[in-house]
Amino acid sequence: MKKILYCFNCNKDVEPVCNVQKNKYIVHKKEVQVKEKVFTCPLCHNELFDENLNTSLYDIYNEYLKIYDLSFSKLKEIRESYNLSQELFAKSLGWSKRTIIRYENADSLPQNQYLQIYNKIKNSKSEFINILKENRKSLGEELYFKIFNIVNTELDIKTINVFLYVLKDNFLTKTQIMKNLFSIDFQSFKEYSKPITSFKYAHGTYGPIFDNKDAILNLLVKQNYLEMVNDEEDKILFKPTVEPDLFLFSKQEIEIMDKVLLKLKGKNAKKLTDWSHKFIGWIETNDGELINYSYAKDFDLSKNW
Ligand SMILES: [Zn+2]
Repeated sequence: MKKILYCFNCNKDVEPVCNVQKNKYIVHKKEVQVKEKVFTCPLCHNELFDENLNTSLYDIYNEYLKIYDLSFSKLKEIRESYNLSQELFAKSLGWSKRTIIRYENADSLPQNQYLQIYNKIKNSKSEFINILKENRKSLGEELYFKIFNIVNTELDIKTINVFLYVLKDNFLTKTQIMKNLFSIDFQSFKEYSKPITSFKYAHGTYGPIFDNKDAILNLLVKQNYLEMVNDEEDKILFKPTVEPDLFLFSKQEIEIMDKVLLKLKGKNAKKLTDWSHKFIGWIETNDGELINYSYAKDFDLSKNW
């Protein structure tokens, strides 16, 4: 489509000539050079005003961020590399959530001291942890450890493959995944005295849950093991993008997973939640408390449905 602008000098619409100019700006006392499009009239050569090009402030700021080897989109990527929400990321650094939102939306240019911190933590988890430790007192112990655990979430390959095995041909919601994994690990512990994943489970409102469940699912999506899809009722289901590696499991472990999958298959979140609320290990623990694997002796797949 041809671009048409109005020339007030010639008093008519013209097809403008476009030139790219390098313009210099001073931002925070630093000079940045920005390439900008300038339109001129082909007849009188006057400069024409184009209201669609009013993005220049964004370009100028982004150019400024390049001095720090950053960009507006990079600011968001840095936060996401730590699996943290805007709120928790802000708290970790002792910033306000509003600040993070403004920066990530390119609503304002970060101050230099903020950019220096972004730069420090962008490739260095230890730098991030150092700042987190400095803020430990103001965060309080509970929040400090919550953030610390999320940032240090790393999954072993066998645990990742339990997710892939559970979800193959059987896309599930977050709650359904929790119930399947919890059942697999407690059934495995009951029969062989060890769980299959590396998870520990705690007492959650809707039944036993593993630690940092949201961070872990986010991590699996970000690392392209899982993707999120919507079902007909617009619920979010998790779907694997790769096949599980069966060589990681013993024959007994496959049998346990199949047994659990068969028993829990087709049951909705409500039914699974009600069932898990009858598990003695859940009943006898308080909110957030760890459910010891010694409760596995009381775990029974065939009861309480
Ligand atoms: Zn003209």
